[in-house]
Amino acid sequence: MTEQEKRYFEGKKKGFEGEVFFDQVVTEPLECEGLVINDLLLKFNNTYFQIDTTIIFKDTIKLFDVKNFQGEYYYEEGRFYAINGSERDDPLVQLERCVSHFRQLLYSLGYKGTIEAYVVHVNPEFTLFQVPRTYPIIFPSQLNSLRKKLNNNQLKLNDWHRRLADKLISLHIVESPYDLSPAYDFDSLRKGNNCGRCQSFSITLNDRILTCNNCGHQETVESAILRGIGEIKLLFPEMKITVNVVYEWCGGVWSKWVIRNVLKKHFKATGYGKWCFYE
Ligand SMILES: [Zn+2]
Repeated sequence: MTEQEKRYFEGKKKGFEGEVFFDQVVTEPLECEGLVINDLLLKFNNTYFQIDTTIIFKDTIKLFDVKNFQGEYYYEEGRFYAINGSERDDPLVQLERCVSHFRQLLYSLGYKGTIEAYVVHVNPEFTLFQVPRTYPIIFPSQLNSLRKKLNNNQLKLNDWHRRLADKLISLHIVESPYDLSPAYDFDSLRKGNNCGRCQSFSITLNDRILTCNNCGHQETVESAILRGIGEIKLLFPEMKITVNVVYEWCGGVWSKWVIRNVLKKHFKATGYGKWCFYE
């Protein structure tokens, strides 16, 4: 990947981890009357907008935009800056834009209640200075009380709310992962088993157990081969899984005999000899 692509995907990954964390701490343990919808990508008036978490309550819809920023930031004269003084995209401006489109969409679907929207920061190493307390921002130290407040919503929902949720889900636009992927092909990718936890290629094999030299994570050979097969299937959905393909993908470390045994155990063989592939 180019440096720019790398930064882009690292940003995406960090954002995703933030959303997962928010779900674990706030939305998954909820015990209230509310329909939670994650990660909606919608379109209204030819404009796309994305909402990390939508919760439908009886008279209110709450929207949460989750941020996993790290480090120190500040507001000055209504603008958002990193501590080194460089201006950054203000999450509140993004949120406002998104809410405006979502409100129009909801009203067009007949919704008449209120909409509340918040930017939620989940990273414990995030600090924001000079922020007016009226801004709709939720800080890491407020996540538990947010969950408790949400749990106070006990008004019963009816079919109309469930139909609204179904409608929103049906309007969700499925993003093709291929639009975002950098170009790649089988030959140009690095081969060999890497660590299942930290992705390091620095691995030591001992007694049919792989140990990562970077993070110490351990894995059996069988599990590593299966993970390699999973990678091939994900990256090359059209490719037929054969002993030779897996052998090459794993960097020629395991004998074809070992690979064939793993394939036989977990997949169904089709064809014979050289042309045998596994599904
Ligand atoms: Zn590792």
